[in-house]
Amino acid sequence: MKPPLSEEQIPRPMETGSQAREYRLIQSQLRRKGLGLTLPKQLEVQYCNGHDRMAAAAFGNTISWALGLFLAIGLMVLLFVDYADLGIWPFSYPIFLVFILAAWLVSHSSYIRDHYQPTVTLLAGLCVFFAVIHPSLVGQEIRTFMHQGTVFVVLLVYLGVNLRFKYALLAGTISGLLAYPLAISLALSIDWRMNAASFFGGSLLGALLRYRDERRDRKLFLQARMLELDNERIQQLADELERLSLLDGLTGLANRRYFDRMFEKAWRGGMRELYPLSLVMIDVDFFKRYNDHYGHQQGDTCLKEIARSISFVTARPHDLAARYGGEEFVLLFPRTDNLAARHLTTRILEKIRALELPHGRSDCAEMVTVSAGIATVVPSPELDMNALLKAADRALYRAKSQGRDCWASADGLL
Ligand code: GH3
Ligand code: MG
Ligand code: MG
Repeated sequence: MKPPLSEEQIPRPMETGSQAREYRLIQSQLRRKGLGLTLPKQLEVQYCNGHDRMAAAAFGNTISWALGLFLAIGLMVLLFVDYADLGIWPFSYPIFLVFILAAWLVSHSSYIRDHYQPTVTLLAGLCVFFAVIHPSLVGQEIRTFMHQGTVFVVLLVYLGVNLRFKYALLAGTISGLLAYPLAISLALSIDWRMNAASFFGGSLLGALLRYRDERRDRKLFLQARMLELDNERIQQLADELERLSLLDGLTGLANRRYFDRMFEKAWRGGMRELYPLSLVMIDVDFFKRYNDHYGHQQGDTCLKEIARSISFVTARPHDLAARYGGEEFVLLFPRTDNLAARHLTTRILEKIRALELPHGRSDCAEMVTVSAGIATVVPSPELDMNALLKAADRALYRAKSQGRDCWASADGLL
């Protein structure tokens, strides 16, 4: 038995070149193994822009968490530590509040939307830097609390503020590299065991989790983009189907369905704005004989040529030329009075004669000709729109009976 088609073999309708390329690129990225976090340039830019926009929007939320954390740790210190043991803590601890305030101000400036990663990296880096040296500044009694606070600050930077992995790593690493030499040169006492647990442990855990999240984020982004491209293609297909369902396959003119729709629209427009609506029915003369003599295929070619000539004359935006059926065409001219419709029809008849398509079996000329019936009315609620069609049809019949290769107008027939 023939195996079912693989995903790549299923025909993908009407993709543009760039869509197809992007789709294949995404497929290859999703199949990719390895530890890298970067995507090819075009996708990387899309991912970063989308990610940073979301991160900037969510930043305000993180600030609330940071404020809650600041208050919770502050409260714990006040509850569990004697006032005499606080030392400089009442003055050093509020510096964190300055960072929170600065973050709040930044979150309200438009600058952050375009420069989220560097701005927040700088802010987060300074905050971690201070969180690392702060335990060395305060007394022994509250040092443990402050080390716990360092863990939270570090985790907040890696997990809370939505910095991309490399920026979070930059904020964490640089702040540590700045804090320790400074603390050592100022001869601050560093409790390395506590630091191993708070700063180094927190950083390691935070970095690992951030890395894992960013990989998942990027995968989700690729899948979402793939869905978006699928949707775009489905929409294109639907548009194309809609277009095809409204066109006549042979001549490329509108088909009867589309004509019916536009006729109704023009009729309603005419009623609303009180403009005259003209309708012209066109029928090829002695076309049965033409087919019998030259063959059906030549007949088709003849219909295409006639359709082309008609479409030249109906090029104004609201005009519509449609194939009504067989060798009959119908033209819709909104905002066109009877005189103008007569001029347009005369031009069409001339153009078709000028094609000089030989017709050896016609009784009215040596070449292919058409006859036309014109009807004009200002649409109104008392009138039936089909009466206009019937009037044009009757006028066509009159043109046929007057010898063909001419038009007749339905004056007084409506
Ligand atoms: P009249 O001048 O009175 O209009 O005569 P006529 O022969 O054109 O009219 P009639 O209605 O007797 O014949 C229409 C012919 O049009 C019949 C059919 O063979 C031909 N026809 C209709 N649709 C097509 C088509 O899609 N392709 C081709 N080649 N011929 C078609
Ligand atoms: Mg006919
Ligand atoms: Mg005919």
